[in-house]
Amino acid sequence: MGLDLMWIIWQRVFADRGNLISLALVALLSAVSLGLAYQALRDYHASNQIISDLLARAAEIRYYDDVLTTSVRLGALTGDATWERRYESAIPRLDQALQQAIELHPPGQVYLDEINTANQRLNHFERQAFVLASSGRLEEAADLLFGEVYEQEKANYADGLGRFTNALENSQQSLERRLQGVFALTLTLKVLLVLVILSILLHRFYRWEGRLQLEHTLGEIARRLVATDSKRTDEDIRWVLGQVAALGEADHAALILYKTGESVGIGRIWSPSPHTGAWPWVSAHWLGEERPDDILDLPVIHHHPGVEARVKDALQGAGIGALLAVSLLIAGGARLQLVLGSRSRLAWRRAEAPLLLSLLEILSRAIASQANEEQLFRQAMTDPLTGLFNRRYFMETLEQELKHVRRFNKHTALLVVDIDHFKAVNDTYGHDAGDAVLQHFARLAKTSLREIDLIGHLGGEEFGIILPATDQVMAMGAAERLRRTIAESETLNRQARINVTISTGLTMLFAADHSIDEPMHRADMALYAAKSQGRNLTRQLLPLPITSG
Ligand code: GH3
Ligand code: MG
Ligand code: MG
Repeated sequence: MGLDLMWIIWQRVFADRGNLISLALVALLSAVSLGLAYQALRDYHASNQIISDLLARAAEIRYYDDVLTTSVRLGALTGDATWERRYESAIPRLDQALQQAIELHPPGQVYLDEINTANQRLNHFERQAFVLASSGRLEEAADLLFGEVYEQEKANYADGLGRFTNALENSQQSLERRLQGVFALTLTLKVLLVLVILSILLHRFYRWEGRLQLEHTLGEIARRLVATDSKRTDEDIRWVLGQVAALGEADHAALILYKTGESVGIGRIWSPSPHTGAWPWVSAHWLGEERPDDILDLPVIHHHPGVEARVKDALQGAGIGALLAVSLLIAGGARLQLVLGSRSRLAWRRAEAPLLLSLLEILSRAIASQANEEQLFRQAMTDPLTGLFNRRYFMETLEQELKHVRRFNKHTALLVVDIDHFKAVNDTYGHDAGDAVLQHFARLAKTSLREIDLIGHLGGEEFGIILPATDQVMAMGAAERLRRTIAESETLNRQARINVTISTGLTMLFAADHSIDEPMHRADMALYAAKSQGRNLTRQLLPLPITSG
């Protein structure tokens, strides 16, 4: 992909309001999760600070307690009064540490109260020991301080302090765990957000890429259709449908021409391949009846309440679960509709409709110009009264036929037909009746001859017929069949039943004929023979064989 394409996509990302909103949302969510993480970190720091302080106080308490115990024991053992002074000076420090701990951590009061009580009981023993020591009863003081009761109190005191520090350590650990949880949560949120953004962007990116491709293909389609020659229009339309189906990831595509904008009259249906089945007709009938808006977007037909069960079944049977139809009113009140169908999902939705409408516009021009050309072609080649080919086209075709006969040595017969006593028809029933007889003849001739036979109106009441791939015997059979058919039929005109007969001159085209004048002349001569021999006859004239006995 080129840089310019990336640039276009980038611009479109920011031109789209939905994108801007989702980007803003992402930014907001990121900010919120960042804020949460910041808050959690701050909380952690504050709590952690308190806990560290408390642990420091606990260490202080433990230290002063050791100081107290050591100084009372040394005082009792030595009887030295300086130890008592040291003891007394440590007591307020221990109280202060306890007080600070309670202030820092009011919930810790329970433990601290326990410690306090044990401390007071110890103090009581210790002061008693000092009293004993100062009165010289050193042994008794030692017994008290190293006795079981004192040890027990000390153990209680240490337990209380231990539980307090444990609780502090536990709360520190749970604080850390909580912080880790918050971080993990914000990280997960971030990763999820990034994934969501990526998938949204990727999805949109593919859609834009599809649209850019569609725009590109539309240009190509327009060029091709403008340059197309009318005989190839249908082929080009099928090609266009194939392209559009591929781009839109559609399994089926059809172009439907409704003869009028309002009613169900379906003019024509094009599809990319000839093996399309009946679904375009089903959907054309349904969409024609429904008179949908210009755009019909049914991503899941099955769930659509507006679609009849019969239509759902038919579409489902054809493997169509999703449908997008875009229609355009075109010249002459006709309507052109592009229908894309897919088994499960179409790459395109309503948003692509404007592009598809431009495509329809181009297609409608191609179809209109094809129709115009066909009409001009018909006008130039046919005779307005009978609808048969005119003399010019007949002669041109005869020339082509003669070339084929020369090249491939094939059999082609030529008939020249003239209506008998036609002047009398005009004189008796009027000119209109004469015209009706000519039309009657044209109709019967068309039905009694083969599809590949070419009938021309040469002028007046004279017709030419080319019978390709037909030998002399078969040609005589065909001419006689036509003669009998005409003779046995009648033209109805204002109550009158008009009976006419025809005379026919027959000849074969020969490789030796220099121009079409020669077979035409032979056929005229044969016709003249039929007339002179009594009319309502077929006569033939072949050139004399070049070598004859
Ligand atoms: P024959 O059996 O010898 O062919 O006699 P005919 O009367 O058919 O031949 P003739 O050539 O004498 O007359 C042809 C008449 O056909 C003369 C003309 O008025 C009439 N005619 C020529 N073109 C038309 C046409 O387009 N419509 C009508 N109604 N009459 C036409
Ligand atoms: Mg005639
Ligand atoms: Mg004539």
